[in-house]
Amino acid sequence: MFKETSREVLDFIHKSPSCFHAVYNLAQLLKEAGYTELKECDSWNVKKGGRYFTTRNGSSIIAFNIGNKLDNYHFQLTSSHSDSPSFKVKEKAELKSKGGYLQLNTEGYGGMLCATWFDRPLSLAGRVLVREGNKVKSRLLAFDRDLLLIPNVAIHMNRAVNDGFAYNKQVDMLPLFSAGECGENAYRNLLAEELGVDEKDILGSDMYLYNRVAPSIWGAKEEFISSSRLDDLQCAYTSLKAMLQSENENGINVFSCFDNEEVGSGTKQGACSTFLRDVLQRINSCLGFGEEDYCRAIAKSFMVSCDNAHAVHPNHPEKTDAENCTYMNKGIVVKFSANQKYTTDGISSAVFANICEKANVPIQFFANRSDMVGGSTLGNLSSQKVSLHTVDIGLPQLAMHSAYETAGIKDSYYMVEALTAFYNTDLKITDSDEIEF
Ligand code: ZN
Repeated sequence: MFKETSREVLDFIHKSPSCFHAVYNLAQLLKEAGYTELKECDSWNVKKGGRYFTTRNGSSIIAFNIGNKLDNYHFQLTSSHSDSPSFKVKEKAELKSKGGYLQLNTEGYGGMLCATWFDRPLSLAGRVLVREGNKVKSRLLAFDRDLLLIPNVAIHMNRAVNDGFAYNKQVDMLPLFSAGECGENAYRNLLAEELGVDEKDILGSDMYLYNRVAPSIWGAKEEFISSSRLDDLQCAYTSLKAMLQSENENGINVFSCFDNEEVGSGTKQGACSTFLRDVLQRINSCLGFGEEDYCRAIAKSFMVSCDNAHAVHPNHPEKTDAENCTYMNKGIVVKFSANQKYTTDGISSAVFANICEKANVPIQFFANRSDMVGGSTLGNLSSQKVSLHTVDIGLPQLAMHSAYETAGIKDSYYMVEALTAFYNTDLKITDSDEIEF
């Protein structure tokens, strides 16, 4: 069962080389499960007992499953993110250099481990905006072949590379595209050819590099999984799977997955945007509830913010707190931060711990070393627009933001089990310090 769930996760990630593909594939799973797609621009006809989803920018998605009775009208939500650090192709995409080399002109997206992007086959994925008659349409595009590579400088020419070398994204990280066989406008022509359109009809694009190395299950006893984009597609897939197999007839279960977490979430579709609030308010009014009902529902709601966490590194155990540290295959990580970079507090951790205990899922606790500043995540950001009880959790992994990350074989299964139990539990929050299960 551990391996089976991990395989599902890895297959999902493998066919989701960009955030646009991830959201497309999440939407496909929702459609297969009978969810109806709603467009934000249309008027919504949302009813009790219904299952729906909507997307924003093609890169963020929110799905919800409305109970038949709604005797305890409130929302139980999970959130995750669809984006991962990468390199984005600049609008003027080509760089010609000495000897006829053609490179792609890229810039960093998010905080990646640069060294992991060298000397491995890379390709391109994202979306292209194409003119069709009097319309401009977004088309998904992923090249399913080895197209690019960022070559290292030989050790003989850069003796300092193993002594803490600083990579310059404008100089060191540019991928090689052609040795000189290509004609003019090769990059745009390649996009046009792949899409079967005229190059002049390509009006815009959001194209990113992706690592071609396939996901792997490995280790002496197959205890590990490795893949690109485990952060955070491992959580996106497992939280959706949990929602699809659960039911709460007295409340509304919500799955959300946001773009742009890696660059601060401040976009129209990010966790800081109005997207979640807009969707919840529209559900509220479609069901005939007023503003007072909305505020009451939010006060009774609970979010599980799911974003991967750091496992203890085998070579560097000193990088983590002595006790509040976590290991792969030992369960879900509940993240704490006194300064509330993680939203977990006594109440939300108690609720989550109770759910996991009932579901027989192990949990572990994480806090950064007190002399180290950690990353932040989704919970405290979405809270700015929709403020509710939130616990920040994740799955333990190594090499976060590498082009090839590593996690435990068991933990995806634990996540599905815990979140299924969460979605199946009708939480009754009667006051901010009393919650009934
Ligand atoms: Zn993340």
